[in-house]
Amino acid sequence: MSVSVKSILDQKGRDVVTTGPNASVGETARLLHERKIGAVVIVGVEGKIAGIFSERDVVSAVAKHGPAALDMPVATAMTSTVHRCSEDHTVNQLMEMMSSRRFRHVPVEKDGKLAGMISIGDVVKSRIREIEQEAEHIKAYIAG
Ligand code: AMP
Repeated sequence: MSVSVKSILDQKGRDVVTTGPNASVGETARLLHERKIGAVVIVGVEGKIAGIFSERDVVSAVAKHGPAALDMPVATAMTSTVHRCSEDHTVNQLMEMMSSRRFRHVPVEKDGKLAGMISIGDVVKSRIREIEQEAEHIKAYIAG
């Protein structure tokens, strides 16, 4: 049985860095840098998820528009169709979602509200812990 999203959030916390759709790409890139994160959730009216914007989107916007990209609203460069999960999802399900859809961040929703963020780093950390525990069990079993 794979670890749940809930148990990861219980350990790492449920704060999510967000910004509004009218923030500029430059400002949002600065936010990613200052908070040392790879993606922010863009929230619209009533705190609803309007999109997600990751470091990959900074690269795409600059590649497409050059320096002018930095003054464009982040809404023009974000991904609007956001794949989310609930606290009941498992790490294995997120791993499958991230690898098949090729992204590294999944916002968590609870009762229609943003309730956390899982990154590929969290998934890898959790899998490493699971593998270490399995190895300990096998060692204990062999040692009798
Ligand atoms: P990432 O690998 O997370 O840096 O994101 C790669 C691309 O996928 C970027 O264009 C992101 O905006 C987009 N993206 C990231 N996370 C998600 C998500 N949960 N749902 C949809 N698109 C996403």
